[in-house]
Amino acid sequence: MERIDTLEEEIAELRNTLLAKEKELIRLKKKWADSQRKHIDPVNDLPFKMNFNHSTKLRGKLPKWAIERYSRQILLPEIGIQGQERICASRVAVVGVGGLGCPAAAYLAAAGIGDIVLVDHDRVAVSNLHRQILHTEEDLDTNKSMSATESLRKINSRINITPYHRTLTTENVMGLVARCNVVLDCSDNVATRYLLGDACALAKTVLVSGSALKMEGQLTVYSYRAENNKNEKDLSYRGPCYRCVFPTPPPLEAVGSCSANGVAGPVPGMIGCLQAMEALKVVMGYPYEKLMVGRMLIFDAEDMSFRTVKLRPRNPECRSCSTTDNFMELMDYDNFCSEQKREEEFELKLLPDEQRISAQDLAIFLNQHQRQMGYEKRKKRKDKNTHPLLVDVRSAEEYKMCSIDGSVNYPINELSGEKLESLLEMVRARNNDVIFMCRRGNDSQIAATTVIDAVGAQHIGKVKELRGGLHEWARHVDHYFPVY
Ligand SMILES: [Zn+2]
Repeated sequence: MERIDTLEEEIAELRNTLLAKEKELIRLKKKWADSQRKHIDPVNDLPFKMNFNHSTKLRGKLPKWAIERYSRQILLPEIGIQGQERICASRVAVVGVGGLGCPAAAYLAAAGIGDIVLVDHDRVAVSNLHRQILHTEEDLDTNKSMSATESLRKINSRINITPYHRTLTTENVMGLVARCNVVLDCSDNVATRYLLGDACALAKTVLVSGSALKMEGQLTVYSYRAENNKNEKDLSYRGPCYRCVFPTPPPLEAVGSCSANGVAGPVPGMIGCLQAMEALKVVMGYPYEKLMVGRMLIFDAEDMSFRTVKLRPRNPECRSCSTTDNFMELMDYDNFCSEQKREEEFELKLLPDEQRISAQDLAIFLNQHQRQMGYEKRKKRKDKNTHPLLVDVRSAEEYKMCSIDGSVNYPINELSGEKLESLLEMVRARNNDVIFMCRRGNDSQIAATTVIDAVGAQHIGKVKELRGGLHEWARHVDHYFPVY
């Protein structure tokens, strides 16, 4: 135990040193980039000078290098020199540098957004790499905001990129969104969505919101106000804010997550690119009719279909964006969205302690049983029903990915009718413990309870559950078991 404490302390200290060094690196890189910029004179720094009667006239604020660099988009009448000037002069925040944030930030940086702020409190994990394309294997366990910043600097060293390795809170969110022309919501949880939605409504900052799960992605633009748009000063609100559309958080079971439900990498890739496109159009001053205002784009990768649905209109009584009352306060979002606590923190307690077994105890129990079986085998007694029964209730896909040897798969979603009946028969016939297991130890309790309710009083004592699920098994017993 002492060794563990010492190691944990040492690691914490190393993390702090790493953070300090990363900060110093950012400071030095910024200083270096600034010094480089000063030396570039767009007109006079040509490789050679000729005696030339006609001097070049640049008809805007863009220097030679910018015209050359961004020429392929400046050529478009929809962007042009004026659009590029606006792009170069704008500041955009990307909240969440994951599956959506990575492609979005990459295109914003490449297009020349002058100032990009990357917000993420998380670190790069190996399961992120299939979709979060700014992070590489070398970046594992480093700050996502920092890792993405380094990748973006390689794409475009002419722009400012600021990593912000923090969780957004009511205290720091206004300072961020009020300074930005557009905010991209690339986050993965409902509390952050409400926090950003309210803060953007209050600060009159346009919010380009994206989401992606499984094979489906969504995109819309919230809090679009014409005051923000210099071309249409006389008009005011043009679209709903996040809270106009979603006044209350959806129930827990309606909110999925990439870690629980999975996601195909190109889906957030696609939505992130579209978020970047909308953000560019907003900073160029496109009118609301041309933006995803009051509408939501739904992309289904399974049949490659794009649909657009109309969103409910702005609610004039909305507490977040109502004009009648200019005073609006940010609230306690974790409390407001308490139903949606991150699944890692969420722990059910359905079964009494004596029916829950730890991973270590299960390993000891199975080992003892195996030794006993060796003895029985020598005595030539064979009865399958004396084995403990391991029931894995994860989905068939997860079970195929990895499972404990000898377990059977009864996905929790299919636990009814004939399937449930066949499981009940197995439990009744078994002369040993029946241990339910899942990924984190919540579904297994639900499944065990379903069986306890139907199996008959004399069999209830056999039903047990692996506390903490296969994650605990991987942590304490079998380090070769994949954690996902
Ligand atoms: Zn509203």
